[in-house]
Amino acid sequence: MRNRIFIGALIYIVLLTFLSFNNSYGHQGLFIPPEPTPSPINQEIKLAIRSEIKKQSSNVIGYLIYNVQIDHIITSDDLSKAIAWITYIDPQSKTLVNGEPGLAILRQTSNGWTAILPSDQEWLSALQQIPDELLSPDEKQTWISMYAESTNASTLGPFGGYLLPWEGGKSLYLTRSITHYNPPNPNGSMHYAFDFAAAHDSSGTSPMFEIYASKGGRVKYARWWQINGDEHSPGNYIVLEDTTTSPTTYQLYLHLAKDSIPVELRVPGTNVVQGEYLGLADDTGYSTGNHLHFHVHTNPDSYWGNSVDITFDDVPINGGRPRTLYEAQHYPEYGSEGQSTYVSGNQITSDKTPPTGDIFTPEIGQMISSQIWHIEGWATDDDSGLGSVQIIARYNGLWHTISPNLNSNLFTYDWNICDSDIPDGSVSLALRLVDNKGNTTTDYPGLRHLFKQYSCTPEPNPPACHPSANQVAIYSMSNFQGDCIPL
Ligand SMILES: [Zn+2]
Repeated sequence: MRNRIFIGALIYIVLLTFLSFNNSYGHQGLFIPPEPTPSPINQEIKLAIRSEIKKQSSNVIGYLIYNVQIDHIITSDDLSKAIAWITYIDPQSKTLVNGEPGLAILRQTSNGWTAILPSDQEWLSALQQIPDELLSPDEKQTWISMYAESTNASTLGPFGGYLLPWEGGKSLYLTRSITHYNPPNPNGSMHYAFDFAAAHDSSGTSPMFEIYASKGGRVKYARWWQINGDEHSPGNYIVLEDTTTSPTTYQLYLHLAKDSIPVELRVPGTNVVQGEYLGLADDTGYSTGNHLHFHVHTNPDSYWGNSVDITFDDVPINGGRPRTLYEAQHYPEYGSEGQSTYVSGNQITSDKTPPTGDIFTPEIGQMISSQIWHIEGWATDDDSGLGSVQIIARYNGLWHTISPNLNSNLFTYDWNICDSDIPDGSVSLALRLVDNKGNTTTDYPGLRHLFKQYSCTPEPNPPACHPSANQVAIYSMSNFQGDCIPL
């Protein structure tokens, strides 16, 4: 009997030890924290979003095609408002569709929580009313610019000459293009944007990948210090200015990994050729997983701008426009051919030489005493062709771009010096020439030093007379010099 109790106690102790060991450690001996118990409020919020999605699923096809996941729920202190991320799960692979999430906005009413989704008309106005404790003004601005509508961007382009922005020969997934809005919105700032991601690996994550310049340009903006996985706006990015298009365009590469942009490319003005390494695609900023968000816009004042239609030379469908199978099937008006994956034809260009050119008018050392300076010159590029011709002038100690893209082998330009605040004295002129691969002149072709002697604000003429004590001067026109008449 005593033996039996002893054996029983022993089994109990062994079992207890085994159980407690197994509870704290997973298969690989790593501690797995228990799943947090979902709070009743979070559950209510999820239910409110799901019921709104159900209502909209007849006109928002994405809600029917994909499974929806709701996370990143934040509630205001007084529990009157909340926000949450909506992300898509591919029902076949059970993996996240990497892209930017949708933001659901929630309000507490007498009937419980109500959700406003990005596909709702009132979403933008509801976004503006979100208290700062839920979204900082900067973060709000990011969402507003992402969903802002434009009236003119979609009429620009298409712009060509792009290559898929990753290593040649490698295949990546297009997770979406025109369905950045669902349903597509041709006036939305992301309508012509692309999300590219690598296949999910055995651990279920989509790995980072190297990004190569889709087209040449000069660094306009670079942000590289946000920590990987930090999901606050805006994330890391590099923006390349492309003067070979008219108007000048800006290529945005968004969600890059911390410090992955090469040090030399963090300096605005640095030249980049097509196929040059730019950084690693991560998921910094509003992103549901490692992917590259790529779009081209025309806004020089921000990393973000309204996207324009572009075509890739290495995309064989829709005239160079990548679309997913889902997009091609449901929205053929934006391209009826779809593919899941795309093979890049991007390689660092063998063309390393910029164009050549010269200025022949005005002559070196000339003194100019007129408001309009007539400039003539030539430029050429034998390898990839002339991309852009700009005239630059140095005054006040800095070089300034003074002409639009002239893009012609023989060019003339009349520079109105009164459009800029140029002091009298020496002014230098030169050319900035870019070829179609992005090779840019750095040696100031056509450089000449001139001398400006012209006053843009002529001395006002003295008045016809000075009124005396019993007179008044009457001015009826801006240039009327006055006439003194007796009172
Ligand atoms: Zn995107």
